[in-house]
Amino acid sequence: MVPFDFQLRIRIVFGQGTLERLGQLARGLGFRRTLLVADAGILQAGYVAEAMRLLEAASIEALPFHAFDQNPDSAMVEAGRRFAEPLRIDSVVGLGGGSSIDCARGINFLLTNGGTIADYRGYGKATTPLLPMIAVPTTAGTGSEAQSYAVIADAKTHMKVACGDPSAAARVALLDPEVTFTAPHHVTAMAGFDALAHAVETAVTMRQTPMSDTFSLRAWRLLNDAFERVLLHPADAEARAGMQLGAHYAGMAIEQSMLGAAHACANPLTARYNLPHGLALAILLPHVVRWNGGVAAERYAALLNSPRRRARDQDAAEALAFRLEDLARAAGLAVTLSDSGVEETALPELAAEAAQQWTGTFNPCPFDAAGAIDIYRAAL
Ligand SMILES: [Zn+2]
Repeated sequence: MVPFDFQLRIRIVFGQGTLERLGQLARGLGFRRTLLVADAGILQAGYVAEAMRLLEAASIEALPFHAFDQNPDSAMVEAGRRFAEPLRIDSVVGLGGGSSIDCARGINFLLTNGGTIADYRGYGKATTPLLPMIAVPTTAGTGSEAQSYAVIADAKTHMKVACGDPSAAARVALLDPEVTFTAPHHVTAMAGFDALAHAVETAVTMRQTPMSDTFSLRAWRLLNDAFERVLLHPADAEARAGMQLGAHYAGMAIEQSMLGAAHACANPLTARYNLPHGLALAILLPHVVRWNGGVAAERYAALLNSPRRRARDQDAAEALAFRLEDLARAAGLAVTLSDSGVEETALPELAAEAAQQWTGTFNPCPFDAAGAIDIYRAAL
């Protein structure tokens, strides 16, 4: 039995319409002047105005920041710090997809501890606790609201850096499935596949424990059941709720179990080809599952709910890869690397970068540049 040390740090408030409780929850944490970090899409969808109204009704001054994009980088986080520093804020609200919550957390690191985001690479580098934060995810995807890491790209190399600290965890994750109803189809598709990939990768890493397992398996079941339904019926409240909880549970699993080769191979594709994270994962994950099959088949069989079929475990990786390909097809994400403009001659350089990714070190099958080439080639 694998030992673990687990403490839930984040209060989870879940339910349709719970956004209405934002002001009350913030007030309960003592917020007075808060930095509201929300991406441009959320501003357009009207949720920034809604959040400001709720915060102001609770006598909290909200100061909005929007100057970042879907892959927040070190320069955007620095701009956020410059914006927020003179405002003397006492708290942060991250409202939006993973990019908003990551950006909010990145700004929080710099405001409280100074320096640049690269100084916080890894875990536990903050010497002063971060300002209290409430995270309100508006997509079911990254599960960033369940984590204590900010994933920020380097502005020059575009490579993602993960910066974690116990105090970077949100005080409250406010999960209101209703705010995900209006997400455009491609956002639902790509964010949803990201969450699926988190459930699959966390279920098999070297860090996986009985506790992370609980979250990985439950996340997979919720997401696997709801993904096609939300794609077909965007206003299906039960399916939206399943996706949001599933994405959150998968985020909780990452917090303990980390990720694997699919994320290691996806990051250079986003950095070099600007391939959206969820699309890169849809291209790669089925091949990673096959590549890990020799060592992870029993775990994959558990995901497929057939843990006792050991004699047929060899088929489990293939069965799971097929299922993931079906889900990618349903989401309109069933493409190859060649379709996305990646040529075979680029693979060695991509593979060298993939092998440098911290996340690859947790993959159950030892992962290096040679492995990355095999995976990229299979996905070409
Ligand atoms: Zn991801």
